[in-house]
Parts: sequence; C-alpha cells; structure tokens
Amino acid sequence: MLHTSYIELSKEALNHNLQFLKGRLKPGVRYSMVIKGNAYGHGIESILPMVEEAGVDHFAVFSVDEAMRAHKIKQEHCEIMVMGFIDDEYLEWAIEHDVSFYVFTMERLRAVQKTAKKTSKPARIHIELETGMHRTGFLPHELTEVAEILTKNDKTVFLEGICTHLAGAEHLANFDRAGKQLERFRKRCTWFHNFGLKPRFRHIACSAALLNFPDSALDLVRIGIANYGFWPSEETRMLHLRKNGEIPKDPLQRVLSWKSKIMSVNHVPEGEYVSYGTSYLTNRDSLIGVVPVGYGYGFSRNLSNLGHVLVKGKRVTVVGTVNMNMMVIDVTDIPDVQVNDEVVLIGRQGNNTITVSSFSDMNNSMNYELLTRLPEDIPRFRTD
Ligand SMILES: *Cc1c(COP(=O)(O)O)cnc(C)c1O
Repeated sequence: MLHTSYIELSKEALNHNLQFLKGRLKPGVRYSMVIKGNAYGHGIESILPMVEEAGVDHFAVFSVDEAMRAHKIKQEHCEIMVMGFIDDEYLEWAIEHDVSFYVFTMERLRAVQKTAKKTSKPARIHIELETGMHRTGFLPHELTEVAEILTKNDKTVFLEGICTHLAGAEHLANFDRAGKQLERFRKRCTWFHNFGLKPRFRHIACSAALLNFPDSALDLVRIGIANYGFWPSEETRMLHLRKNGEIPKDPLQRVLSWKSKIMSVNHVPEGEYVSYGTSYLTNRDSLIGVVPVGYGYGFSRNLSNLGHVLVKGKRVTVVGTVNMNMMVIDVTDIPDVQVNDEVVLIGRQGNNTITVSSFSDMNNSMNYELLTRLPEDIPRFRTD
C-alpha cells in the first residue's frame, strides 16, 4: 500500500442505484449524472467509466476544470454540461468541445454571443432562471431582452435548455417554497415557448426533487447524491419509505468504502493521557492502535474522541484528538489485534457498517460536505 488509505467503489451498488432512480422517470427523460465536487468525493476519473457502462450519457459539473477532466476520459457520444463557473477566456474551449453551459447574467450572454461568432460551432447554452432561490439566474424583467438576443443570434447561439434550481427540495419545511418555484418555472417556460424559443431540455429536478416531487422531472433531471447511495436528507428517506406502506429495504446502496490499516499497536497503562493534550485519559490498561489517517486526509477533527471505525468487524472508538496524519483508536477489546489489520473508516466489515451519515450526525456536517472533503489523491479502486 503506497498511500495511507484507499477508497473502493462498488459497481454493483452504483448499478443498483441507477436502476432505482431511472426507474422513477417517464420514458424519454434525459438522465444527467452530477459529478461536481470530484463526483461527490468518489473521483471523476474513477466513477465516470463505471457510470458510462451503466448507460448514463450526460454529465453535469460545476466548473470548466471539471468539464475538462470529464471530457478527457468520456466516450465520444456522452455530453457534458457546466452548471456554474466558466471564465470568459474558456467559453471558446467549451463551445469548440460541445460542452453546454449555464448562462445566468446578461454579461455572460453578451460574452457568449461575441465568442460564438468566432467559433466553428454554435454555443449550446442553458438559460438559468431565478425562481426563488435568489442565487443565480435571470429575473423576470430581463427575459424579453434575453429572448430577443437569442432570436437574433440563433445561428451561433443554440438554446439547448432552460433551467432553475430548487432551494431545498429535501426538507418538508421548504415544500411550499419549492412548489412555488416549480409553478413559476413552468410559467416562464411557457412564456419562452410562446416567444418561439423551444429548447430541447427544460430542467429543474435534483435528487430530492425527483424523490419528493416526481412531476418536477421535466425533459432532463440532474441527479447527484442519490447516485452515490445517499438520501439528500433523512426526511426524504422517511417520506419515501413511509409512502410505500411497510418499511421496505433501503433502495439506495452506498458506492464508496474508505479503508486503511493499523500502523502500530501499543499498551498504555491505566491513568495515562493519549495523543496530544489531555482530552483522553485511559481508565483501564489499554491497547491503542494508530491509523495513518487524520484531518489532512478528510477525517474531520470534530470526530476526536467521538468517531468510530471498524477493526475485525467490531466498532471501536477514536480516542484523543484526530491529528493531521493519524488517529488513535482503542483496540483493547479486539482479540489478536495486529499491525496491518484492516481498518474501515467508511463502509462495511463483517456485520457492521460505518456510514457517512453517522459521521455527519456526530459533527453536524452533511454527507455532501464530508464526501467532497475526501482528498483527490487517495487512490480509488472499483470492485465489480
Ligand atoms: C448539485 C446540483 C444538483 C444535484 O443535487 P443533488 O442533491 O446532489 O442531487 C442539481 N442541480 C444543480 C444546479 C446542482 O448544483
């Protein structure tokens, strides 16, 4: 093992999730897999070929650097869409490489219009509308000007999509707001249609929207977290399971496991402090294991004296503070524990599982945040 830990990606779990999620779509709806945030920490380069094999042919990223990474390895027929940041100097790259992208300001629209006059291909753009999230998107009073510019430049600027994003479709408390957004979005799409602008894709749905508002799956859906086997929120999970009457098996499976090994085992007598400072005092003669993973590798320092990992199929606690490169675990109750024994930081060992959610319950961050903090340079391996 060259690195101090590694990540395994389960093809089986991924296929299972895709089948479940695609099964919720009406025929003809395009499935775009969101691979921003280094594919939610799973690794763009590792996950993309697995997803292509499962038949997905549309990928959504946040920024042009991610688009370039995906473009380098994707199959010819697959499409890429940038939902966020592209500097003007990269518009030409995107246009020439058939990468579609969001346009949400008049400045960007004018820059696209200018660039697309020089490129060999038309720009493929998605007009993002502000419908209630108040983050990015065109306001209602700007739409006439947008539509006029698009009509005038229809040879060089191709309106591929109209879209918006929901401000929290994963929480019941937000359902009213999300419902209003959906209604406004539909109205404005009709407005564009009446203006003579008929894009290929009207899209609004993320994972939570697909699960909680199936009607929001219009011509394309942008699904992120659920592909990887996580519910967008506990509420969404409960709503989904409850709707089905009895408590069924969770239809989503975790794709990612994160593993390391024990690098040292030591006896520590009762009444000694372990690791930096005085946050952990042994209350018995203890056996202490050291794992070469710390906050520098994405294992949050908030899990000091709190987190759990699996050794020989048993849950053990992280004791003392999580260091930059190491954590200490209490292995007193693990018989025959040895250097090189496997340590599971996320995933299954024997009958026990450590989920990312259990991390997030303990340190108040979200699955999204913990996953994307997994460093890019931890090696990823697929298990088929
Ligand atoms: C991240 C993102 C998504 C996917 O959200 P999930 O909750 O992960 O499914 C969809 N659309 C936009 C614009 C996003 O930024």
